[in-house]
Amino acid sequence: MDCIFCSIIAGEIPSTKVWEDDYCYAFRDINPQAKDHVVIVPRAHIESADKIYAGNSVYVSKIFEAIPKIAAALNLENGYRIITNIGEHGCQSVKHLHFHLLGGEQLPEKIV
Ligand code: 5GP
Ligand code: ZN
Repeated sequence: MDCIFCSIIAGEIPSTKVWEDDYCYAFRDINPQAKDHVVIVPRAHIESADKIYAGNSVYVSKIFEAIPKIAAALNLENGYRIITNIGEHGCQSVKHLHFHLLGGEQLPEKIV
């Protein structure tokens, strides 16, 4: 399967690691949209948040357990934003589930 994020997880494409555990891998986005912009991906190839079900939802819960630890490691005590884009209308460009963590500075106006 040709997936950029699977290749990053496998170490075939270099990345700047921020966090890793048995369920997820987090690295700095190549095109940062904030001072700290981290992409958090499950170690399993899941297309998007639209493909979560009882058999794979552990990856999502484990990612959300990791998020406070990643935020603490980055000293984001003043807050941050988590975003996941889904499909064409959601402007998802990489079809491997990922959560953007944005912070490190005052973020621009929110959409919702
Ligand atoms: P999406 O648009 O799918 O929500 O987000 C995909 C993100 O992956 C984008 O923010 C993009 O900059 C990032 N990205 C794409 N390819 C690479 C890569 O090879 N390395 C890193 N570090 N980030 C990437
Ligand atoms: Zn993948």
